[in-house]
Amino acid sequence: MIYLDNASTTKMFDECVEVHKEFSCTRFFNPSALSGESLQVSKLIADAEKFILERLGASEGNILFTGCATENNNLAISGSVRSGNWEYVFSAGEHPSVFNVARKLELQGFMVHYVPLAKNGQVDLECLASVLNDRTRLISIMHVSNETGAINDLKAISALKNAKCPRAVLHVDGVQGFMKIPFALRDTAVDLYSFSGHKFHSPKGIAGLYVKNKGALKSLFEGGGQQFGLRSGTENVSGIMQMCKAISLIDEKANFARTQAIKKIFNDTLLHAGARKFGDAVPGEKHILINDFGGSPYIENLLFQGVKGETMLHALDAVGVIVGLGSACSAKKAGNRVLEEIGMDKDDIISSVRISFNAYMTDEEVHAAAEIISKVYEDILQRVS
Ligand code: PLP
Repeated sequence: MIYLDNASTTKMFDECVEVHKEFSCTRFFNPSALSGESLQVSKLIADAEKFILERLGASEGNILFTGCATENNNLAISGSVRSGNWEYVFSAGEHPSVFNVARKLELQGFMVHYVPLAKNGQVDLECLASVLNDRTRLISIMHVSNETGAINDLKAISALKNAKCPRAVLHVDGVQGFMKIPFALRDTAVDLYSFSGHKFHSPKGIAGLYVKNKGALKSLFEGGGQQFGLRSGTENVSGIMQMCKAISLIDEKANFARTQAIKKIFNDTLLHAGARKFGDAVPGEKHILINDFGGSPYIENLLFQGVKGETMLHALDAVGVIVGLGSACSAKKAGNRVLEEIGMDKDDIISSVRISFNAYMTDEEVHAAAEIISKVYEDILQRVS
């Protein structure tokens, strides 16, 4: 099996299994209890927080450990809402765990702005500048698009926030950025940054929200008051430790370079087999078109002219190559809001699949995947035409 759906989830590192055993079967103590063992576990969670803050390049703040990035995004946005004449700003390319919260705020009568995306998939900075003002309460813009891989410029967004609405809260959904794209939060004005362990080889069910100023966030539910009262509930100690293990095994700079090399092998193999770049489509001819937005090396789109993406997905699945149709949450719905937003036409969207790599694939695997994809496409094309 060749797995090319790493933006959806990744294979957990084997090294996490031992950590799971240690913190579930041996050091299973509740970090809020008062025994010496519990205090030690509580201290390990504090160390984990410091470790992750360092890896985020943050010079201040805290990490809230949660269950998934969907929870982080809901907490970050709903926990920043205040009554009064405030405005809320979102990019039009956000994941449903942000976008649907924005829609809900709108339905509740809050003033919500959706900033359009440019053709390259990044948020349009001029449009962003035009909606920010001293009533802006929250700006929520993702780091890396899960659909296109486009990377938003967090420094430029921070500069706009500082110039136009310094009191606003800046939330960034960093799910496709953390542990993949080298950056440091201290170079930005980001207040809240969401990440999710299963996107970088940790188990599912553990995630984190960076919070620069914990006094500025309101909790969504009541409970035992763990994690500064912002996320009550017994911490997933094993998950936290496994996530730290995974982080300690990742060198994001080296992985970024390796994934660039992987993408190049993949695209060169496709081009060699007759694919074309998106802009080089030939009227009247049918090809695989490589729709690489030039952002994250981890993600790109392929457009199969004349064949539905879903048909390709199932045909590839049958021969052991797993690809995606975009975010798992939208994969079961028709169309793709984000690709539509950047101006792709409906037929092109229907013919698209999302390819997402991990840094640990071998050259041979990547090369083989591209050859199989080309062959399966040619076979289907011959059958349908
Ligand atoms: N945000 C982005 C950009 C994502 O890609 C995803 C998952 O695909 C999420 C949020 C949701 O993450 P989780 O599965 O941890 O809730």
